[in-house]
Amino acid sequence: MAEHVAQLCRDHRIHVHARQSYGGWASKKRRVICVKPVKTQRTYIVALHEIGHILGAGRSGTRLEQEAAAWAFVCEVSVVPLSPATYGRMLQYLQSYLVRASRRKRMIIPPPAHWFWDVYRHILACSEAE
Ligand SMILES: [Zn+2]
Repeated sequence: MAEHVAQLCRDHRIHVHARQSYGGWASKKRRVICVKPVKTQRTYIVALHEIGHILGAGRSGTRLEQEAAAWAFVCEVSVVPLSPATYGRMLQYLQSYLVRASRRKRMIIPPPAHWFWDVYRHILACSEAE
């Protein structure tokens, strides 16, 4: 997993800043991600997610679209089968953006037929898998 992240960053000239705490951020402009060193599925998916913000589709959408697209990128490119618990964590992240969106008027919640919900349902189903 760590090697996969290192490889993606080398191939796409993305600089990695290491941080001590969980969470992360990406700067598309500077092609930098700041994440915890990859050692577990949790740190792996966060690193892929931040890379997804730089490389993935849907980068120019709303905040919620960008977040969902970056998680869809994780599902697409992961080189290991992700555990239901890991999908559960992705679901928590998606839900936290929805909660934030519902509190802020300038964040738009996608309509029912939007692909955001396809990503959401996919991650939900995987989190419930045996
Ligand atoms: Zn994100």
